[in-house]
Amino acid sequence: MHYFHNKEESAEILRRALQMMAPHEAGFHPLSYAVWYEHAADLNPGLSRDLEKIIAAESVLAETDVARLYALHIAARDVEAFERAQSQLRTLLEDTATGADSAQTAAVQFTRSLEGLFGELEQPADPVALKRVVAELLSQAQSMHLVTSEFSEKLATNRAEVVSVIERLERAQTEPLRDPLTGINNRHGFQRAADALGTSLSNLTGVALLAADIDHFKKINDTHGHVIGDKVLLKIAEILRTHIRAQDTPSRLGGDEFAVLLPGISLSAAAALAEQIRTSVARTLISRLDGVEYVGQVSLSIGLAMGEEDDTLESLRHRADAAMYKAKDAGRNRIGLAAQRAPTAAGAHSGQ
Ligand code: GH3
Ligand code: MG
Repeated sequence: MHYFHNKEESAEILRRALQMMAPHEAGFHPLSYAVWYEHAADLNPGLSRDLEKIIAAESVLAETDVARLYALHIAARDVEAFERAQSQLRTLLEDTATGADSAQTAAVQFTRSLEGLFGELEQPADPVALKRVVAELLSQAQSMHLVTSEFSEKLATNRAEVVSVIERLERAQTEPLRDPLTGINNRHGFQRAADALGTSLSNLTGVALLAADIDHFKKINDTHGHVIGDKVLLKIAEILRTHIRAQDTPSRLGGDEFAVLLPGISLSAAAALAEQIRTSVARTLISRLDGVEYVGQVSLSIGLAMGEEDDTLESLRHRADAAMYKAKDAGRNRIGLAAQRAPTAAGAHSGQ
């Protein structure tokens, strides 16, 4: 398990975890700390579910409960994923080695028969004998071809499987960074992506932040139910993914709030992209589960801010959010552009 909180964040989680641990029987040791840390940081939904069930049933968490939660939801997760991957990779390696052995044996046999046939040709040969030698050579070459193409097919399949095992391992490592409903980043993943951008570009200059919030989402939930509400959230994530560029990172920050980090983009290009997203959402019809009725118009209010020198993720988010709220105030289903921080900068926009 890879924890990705910085010192301040982990200190805050520690404070919450300690508060949560205090009333329970289990001691303050690393095992129970890991359990409460993952619960307090909302990193492990299965663990939180079981932990809350135990507390609901028994009021206190005993030492044995902690040990069981740790074994089931923390140790088992890491060990199982790696053991599974290890055994799959071992099988693939053995399979590839067996294929390579067969190809090697076939090559040795082929060389031997070539030597034999070459020996036969040292005697003056009549055309019939010559024809037989050539026919034999041809048949040997064909079986050699068969063995090598089977081997190269096996290599291609195994290569694809190795790639898929590696991807699954990577996914297991990044699980806490993703929103389980939409599959895009959650707020931890968003923070991680922003940190990576801040490091690679040395700051957030030229990174646009798009903040989007669904309009009247509560009403959609109230009218059609949470399942349809979830369907709307999924659709929004899909639309974001469809319109953004490969280098852009979409995230669901929580509830009906989304954000996209857009590195190396001008404000006008970011605004054009936001407009595509806005119109695409407004045009989308989301059917109810019975497939007949549609959820009424769904729309987004979007705020856009451009990263400037000395911007932190917080300050950039603050401006993008403020621009989004301006769009809400101005009637929703629109885009708000944040004012630039530098007062001398030309072309500062605000609202719409
Ligand atoms: P506004 O236009 O001002 O944004 O109005 P709103 O109704 O969208 O208000 P707000 O953004 O505050 O509403 C967020 C709602 O999102 C409240 C909550 O019921 C709902 N919500 C939060 N998480 C989920 C979720 O995972 N699934 C569903 N279906 N609803 C969620
Ligand atoms: Mg909303």
